[in-house]
Amino acid sequence: MPETPQRWYARVSAAIGANGYRHADLTQWRSWPWTGTLTPKPLDPPVDEEPQRSGVGGADCMQCASSQDPDGDYLIWRDETWMLGMPFEPSSLPFKVFLMPRRHADLADLTPVEAARQGELLVAIEQAACAVLDVPRIQVARWGDGTEHLHWWLYARPTGQLQLRGTFLSHWDDLLPAGDPVTARADSELVAARLLQLAGGELVQRSRSAADRPAADPPAPGQPTA
Ligand SMILES: [Zn+2]
Repeated sequence: MPETPQRWYARVSAAIGANGYRHADLTQWRSWPWTGTLTPKPLDPPVDEEPQRSGVGGADCMQCASSQDPDGDYLIWRDETWMLGMPFEPSSLPFKVFLMPRRHADLADLTPVEAARQGELLVAIEQAACAVLDVPRIQVARWGDGTEHLHWWLYARPTGQLQLRGTFLSHWDDLLPAGDPVTARADSELVAARLLQLAGGELVQRSRSAADRPAADPPAPGQPTA
């Protein structure tokens, strides 16, 4: 029988008490962003009930609202079932977009047809990004712990920037100075244009009102995080 969360916590806590944490040696990794000694936090017990994520059932969902805003500039590409959105907060990376279903759905809600198209698009987006940007590959992540609407995080680091390889790319993105959002959108639109050639769909232009806004406008509140 699979371990319950309570038994998992009891077993792991007992092991920590007896032998401490494992020596992960993260500070020796070239990609580790920080210096200094690490001290793991005490392990919290599991809660009885998971907190409700934002946008549950499509209510007050920021991805649904932003993608359907006729005056917004959230999207750069879409087809009948999928869409690419830009981060609300400027990124330090040369490429960072979100791949999301157009309808309000989480990963387990996808139909086989939607899931098949998702797989095609992940391949095509990497092909497109590597064709038009100087990036070696994209990294793909899905957490979904904060927001119900499925959003794949698609990132890329500059080619040769080896310190940004692997697990900590998202942390480096949070630490490094953000780039110009206008440039980021222009670069992402290049990727979207190549994606159009590879996988169809349509480009989504910035609305006139969004394009007229000064670049220094504060970003829209919230971001598909976690
Ligand atoms: Zn939604």
